[in-house]
Amino acid sequence: MTTTPDAPPGATPPPGAPSGATTPGATTPGAGGAAVPAQRRRLPAVEQIRPGLWSVPVPLPVRRPAHMYVYVFETPAGPYLVDAGWDHDESFAALEAGLATIGTSPAEVRGILVTHAHPDHYGLAHRVRAASGAWIALHRLEAAALQRQTELLQDAELAMLLADAGVPDEVTAELLARDPLVLAPPQPPDLLISDGDRLDVPGWSLHALWTPGHTPGHLCFWESEHRLLLSGDHVLPGTVVSTPLPDPTNPDPVGDLLRSLARLRTLDASLVLPSHDQRFTGLGDRLLELESCHRARMTQLVNGLRDGVGTVWDLAALVTWHRPFADLRAIAIQIAVQDTRSYLTALAATGIATATVPEDGSPTRWRLATT
Ligand SMILES: [Zn+2]
Ligand SMILES: [Zn+2]
Repeated sequence: MTTTPDAPPGATPPPGAPSGATTPGATTPGAGGAAVPAQRRRLPAVEQIRPGLWSVPVPLPVRRPAHMYVYVFETPAGPYLVDAGWDHDESFAALEAGLATIGTSPAEVRGILVTHAHPDHYGLAHRVRAASGAWIALHRLEAAALQRQTELLQDAELAMLLADAGVPDEVTAELLARDPLVLAPPQPPDLLISDGDRLDVPGWSLHALWTPGHTPGHLCFWESEHRLLLSGDHVLPGTVVSTPLPDPTNPDPVGDLLRSLARLRTLDASLVLPSHDQRFTGLGDRLLELESCHRARMTQLVNGLRDGVGTVWDLAALVTWHRPFADLRAIAIQIAVQDTRSYLTALAATGIATATVPEDGSPTRWRLATT
């Protein structure tokens, strides 16, 4: 399938895309610009996190994020992976080298638990499966979305989205002029995971936590024995990830994201293992930070609506992104527009905002529901 650099397949925003970072200078998983040869960049080292648990950095053929982490659980039956990396030769070579550092290989892998179906997490899973016969497991909503992800956000659809948002013609032209990135259609998983499932990884107490928001079927994995949270893209220490555009199958992704952040508050994690950035402690503080970042943006939108600002484009300019709106370029603009629409949809879901679609084809006007 074709899509824009860093973009996930389908009518969703880029994989892990930024809707801005709360940490100055933080990058944006999934939103980076032109493809970059992965081998030119320095990778973090393979590290042992706990006896029998390793992090293996895998480079990505995009500017940002530069790499992701595959987590490897050793068991008497062989290794099990959480996520796999991008379907790319350099990524596979790095995974192979990382597994060799641990004393194993892709051929010995028994199972692959995938947090979500973005290409930087799911892409390589089928290559590891081909080498080993390992099973691939994914949340059922994520598996269902694989089919939809083969349907591209075509230029015409993107143009309609941007027109509806009131994006100026010159910005629309720039966004539509990007070089596409070609991705192979994702293959289906072997196993479907449901919320609360205990995962079949011998010797480890791994449980699935369904955390929709960044994607509809995003999973975190909780290792209860060592109190480790494998947080995927749901909770990153230095990046605020985006949500997909609302659609009938996924009507309020921002609302889902906020609920998924809240549900992790009771976890007493000794360490959080995210897919990007660095491992961190202080899960509770980070959850509150992320929630307040999203709520602050929604407050900025409510204030804009109160002042009579009505199009998604004009409202997006009022939001605090990872850098000033006027400095956003290319895919970051598209993500800001899409995220603004998602935030407004969340405000509509709680009865605060409402939208009017003019019959003359001009941009949708948003306003406070009470005015
Ligand atoms: Zn990611
Ligand atoms: Zn992602």
